[in-house]
Amino acid sequence: MLALQAVAGVDLGGTAINYTFLTDQEQFLIEGLCEYPARAREGPSICLQQIADGLQIAFEKAGVLPSEISVVGLDTPGPSSATGVLSARGSTNFVHPDWAGFDIRAGLEDKLGKPVIYLNDGNAGAIWGHFVIFGAKSPATSVSAIVGTGLGGGIIIEGNVVKGRQGFGGELGHVLIPYQSIRGIEGLIPECNCGRIGDLESLCSLTAIEKTLLPYFLGKAPEHDLAKLGDLRKASKLVRGLAERGDELSLEIFRVQAHALGVFFDEMINTFDPDALIVGGGIIETTDELQTWIVEEIRAGMPKQRVEQADIPIHIMPNGDTAGARGAAIEALKFGRQTGVI
Ligand SMILES: [Zn+2]
Repeated sequence: MLALQAVAGVDLGGTAINYTFLTDQEQFLIEGLCEYPARAREGPSICLQQIADGLQIAFEKAGVLPSEISVVGLDTPGPSSATGVLSARGSTNFVHPDWAGFDIRAGLEDKLGKPVIYLNDGNAGAIWGHFVIFGAKSPATSVSAIVGTGLGGGIIIEGNVVKGRQGFGGELGHVLIPYQSIRGIEGLIPECNCGRIGDLESLCSLTAIEKTLLPYFLGKAPEHDLAKLGDLRKASKLVRGLAERGDELSLEIFRVQAHALGVFFDEMINTFDPDALIVGGGIIETTDELQTWIVEEIRAGMPKQRVEQADIPIHIMPNGDTAGARGAAIEALKFGRQTGVI
C-alpha cells in the first residue's frame, strides 16, 4: 500500500485541543471531534507536551503514521502575531506568565520535528467555511463572521487569508458599524470589551447579549421571565432556546444581531465585492426555522444593494466545533503544496 500524503490540523483552545488529518486528496480522516485536555493554564512546556501526546492518540485513532504527516497547521485564540508569537500582554486563554511573548509556532515545530504553520482561531474558522463552499484551490473571496462569546472570523481574498502586518487582519468584531441605523435600540450605547462603542462584537456576540442587549430589553419588560431570573449570565444563555419557542423579546435580540451583521456585511460588500458571506457560531446553531429567519433578517438589515451585488449569497458555516482544526489543516495543505513537500 502506498504511504498516505497528509497534513495535521491542531486547534488549541483554553481547555481542549482538537485534532484532524487532511489528505492531499482533500479528505478529512477524522469525523467530528478528537479532543485531548490542553492544560494551557500550566504554561507552554506542559501544554506543548499535551499537544504532542494528544496527537499520538489521534494518529492511532485515525490509523495514520506520524511519517505520513508532512506539515502541521496550528490555530489558537489570539491576540498573537501573524507568525504565532502570543501577545506579551497575555490573554484570557494563555494566562500563565511563560506564555507572554511565547513563539508557539516555533515551540511546537521543535516539539514535533515537523514544519508548523500558524493561524488565529478566527482566521482558521474562516478558512474552513471558505473551503466548504469553494474547495482549497479556488481564487474566490469570502467574508466570515463567527458569532460566539465574542465575534471572530476572517477575510479570504482570492483564496488567501488576510493575516495583516501584525496578525490583526480579519479582526472583524472590532470594526465599527453604523449601529444607530438599526431600529429598536434607540438610546442604547453598545460598549465592547475592547473599549470601542458600536463595533460589531458590541452587538453581535453572547457577551453583547449579557452585557448590553438583555439589560436594555429587560429594562423595557421588567415582567419578563428572564428579568425574574436575576442573573444576566444565566439569562443570556437561555435567549436562543426562548427564541426557538417564539419568545418575542428573545427574537428581538436576534433581530438586532442579524441587522448588525447586515450593516457590517454591507461594509464588506462595498470593500471587497466578495463571492460569499458566511455566518457561523452559536447564533446559527439552532433550529432550521430560526436559522432561515436569521439569514433573512441579516439580508433585511442590509441597505439596498446594487443590482450586480444583490445575489451575493449568505452561507451557513457547517460543523462549528471542528472548524478551527480543519481550517488549520487546510492552511497546512496549502503550505505543503506551495513548498512542494506534498
Ligand atoms: Zn471591540
